Amino acid sequence: MNLKDSISFFFFGNVCTGCGSSQKFDPWLCSSCKEELIACGERPIWPGKEDAICLYPMNSLTRKLVLAMKYKGMQKIASYLVAHSSVGRKGEALQILESWGKNMAFLPVPVHSARMRERGYNQSEQAAFELALQCNGKLQTNILKRRVYKPSQTLLGSSARSLNVAGAFEAKNAENLESQSGIVVVDDVYTTGATTTSCTRALKRAGFEKIKVCALLYELPASAAMDMAADKKLGWRTERD
Ligand SMILES: [Zn+2]
Repeated sequence: MNLKDSISFFFFGNVCTGCGSSQKFDPWLCSSCKEELIACGERPIWPGKEDAICLYPMNSLTRKLVLAMKYKGMQKIASYLVAHSSVGRKGEALQILESWGKNMAFLPVPVHSARMRERGYNQSEQAAFELALQCNGKLQTNILKRRVYKPSQTLLGSSARSLNVAGAFEAKNAENLESQSGIVVVDDVYTTGATTTSCTRALKRAGFEKIKVCALLYELPASAAMDMAADKKLGWRTERD
């Protein structure tokens, strides 16, 4: 085992997050899972709206990665997902992001302060940081704010969840964005788009224009409901919005 592998083993354990095999290729995946990830990130997904793209579909592999990212303290998986979406087909998703404008501001969807305390990080911020790096944009974390703590989305039905996020955000410090050509709101998982739409509305109310959306993963609402039910049985408090 070389030094890099030893360090990786020390920090991340020695099994593939995708298949559990001990033939790990990098901090997270074995070579075949990594190939699979690159293949499923070849084409970005447009979840019905022209101004939103998602880097990967939710499937058994990406779901394991997103669960590890959100609930097992592995926030660097967000950067890993962004970096590997630029490998297939010469980084089609990143080309689209770049075509949206130069010097874009990347705004992560903020997490609830209670969740931030519990988890210690915001995985959307990690994704926004990496996207900004890859696209020569700028990470901006002081514009979008959560208003007040609301009950977990997991406990609410879908219409209540939409209402719950509708007024949940506000945009502050508008002067910080003057030099930017446009905004990309960054989320981890896009399902109905309720959360990012709420962020977009808050930004528009504050006078911003040219607002786009990018999420790491796209999950069909019907699959999300089934996954959440399965997670609940396993004791995971997962959420989608
Ligand atoms: Zn594997």
